Amino acid sequence: MSVNILHDKDADLAHLKGLKVGIIGYGSQGRAQALCMRDSGVEVIIGIRKGPSYNSAKEDGFSVMTVSEAAKEADIIHILLPDEIQGEVYKNEIAAHVKAGKTLSCSHGFNIIYKQIAPPADVDVIMIAPKAPGTEVRKTFSNGFGVPGLVAVQQNASGKAKEVAMAIAKAEGLTRAGVLECTFEQETYEDLFGEQAVLCGGTVQLIKYGFEVLTEAGYPPEMAYFECLHELKLIVDLIYEGGIQKMNEVISNTAEWGEYVSGPKIVDASAKERMKEVLNAIENGSFAAKWMEEAKTGKKNLLKHREELGNHSIEIVGKQIRSLFEKKN
Ligand code: NDP
Ligand code: MG
Repeated sequence: MSVNILHDKDADLAHLKGLKVGIIGYGSQGRAQALCMRDSGVEVIIGIRKGPSYNSAKEDGFSVMTVSEAAKEADIIHILLPDEIQGEVYKNEIAAHVKAGKTLSCSHGFNIIYKQIAPPADVDVIMIAPKAPGTEVRKTFSNGFGVPGLVAVQQNASGKAKEVAMAIAKAEGLTRAGVLECTFEQETYEDLFGEQAVLCGGTVQLIKYGFEVLTEAGYPPEMAYFECLHELKLIVDLIYEGGIQKMNEVISNTAEWGEYVSGPKIVDASAKERMKEVLNAIENGSFAAKWMEEAKTGKKNLLKHREELGNHSIEIVGKQIRSLFEKKN
C-alpha cells in the first residue's frame, strides 16, 4: 500500500476537547458534518449568511451567527462554502480572525492549492474530506458506520495538526470506514480529475452520445433511456461490489465479448491522451484560473450549459419515465 489507511484506533476525540469548531456554510457538507460532530460530543457553532441554510441550522438547534462572528469565536474554522466563493468570503469575513494558534480546515483543497486563500504561517491548515455527498455522510453515520474519507495537513504550526484532523474524521464517522492520509495536492488534483474525466464529465458524455445514437437511428427514446442511463447504475453497483471481473461474471458472455471488442473503439487511446491534457490543465492551474474567471463574471457559460442540458431529450424523457415508475412502485 502506498498510502496509510487509518481507523478509529488511530484517532482520539480528546484532541478536540475544549475546542470550538466553527462550521462556515450549512449546505450539503456543512449540515451533515455539523450534525455528526455534535452527536460525537464536539462543540459546534455555525457561521452562515441569512437565508435557507441559516433557517435550517436554527431548526437543527445550533448556535447560528454571521460568518465573521463564527470565525472569531471558533478555534477551528471549518470552511464548507461553495469552492468558487471561498476566496472572497475568506478575504472579507474570515481572514481577520485567523489568529495564531487557530486551525483552518476544509473538505477540498482547491482554495489552498490555487491560492484563493493564503493563510498566515502561524495557523494549522488541515483537510477532512468525506468521499461522499453530505446526505450519504449523515445517513451512514446515523446507521452506526461512516463513509471513507481523506485527511491532509498543509501547515502544522502547532505540531498537532494531524491529530486534530484525525479527531474530526473520527467525530464524523470516517475512521469507522477508513481514512486515507494524503497531501492537499493529491486530493485536489485527483478529485478534479476524477469528476472531469470519469465520474461526471466522461460518464455524462458517454450516456448522452449513446442515447443520441440510438434515438437518431429511430429507436424509442424510452428504451434508449433504459439502455444508456438506467442500467448504468446496475452495472456500476456490480463493479463497486466486486470489481470489473465480478461484473463480467454476471453479464452474459455476449456482453463481455462486446465489452472487449467495442469498448476500446469507443474510448480509444486518443481519449487517454486527452485525459492527460485534462490532468495537465488541473496541475498547472489553467483549469482553476478559467473556472475562477467564469465564477467571477456571473457564471454565464455554466448557466447556459445547465439550461441546454435541461432541454436535452434524455432529461425530458427521463423525468417522465421516472415519474411513471415511481407511481407504480
Ligand atoms: P453547498 O453548495 O451544498 O453549500 C454551500 C453553503 O454555503 C450553503 O449553506 C450556502 O448558504 C452557503 N453560502 C453560499 N454562498 C455564501 C455566501 N456568500 N456567504 C455565506 N454563505 C454562503 O456546498 P457543498 O456542501 O457541496 O460544498 C462545501 C465544500 O465541501 C466544498 O469545498 C466542496 O468541494 C466540499 N465537498 C463537497 C462534497 C459534495 O459531495 N457536495 C463532497 C466532498 C467535499 P445558502 O443556503 O444561503 O445559499
Ligand atoms: Mg470528488
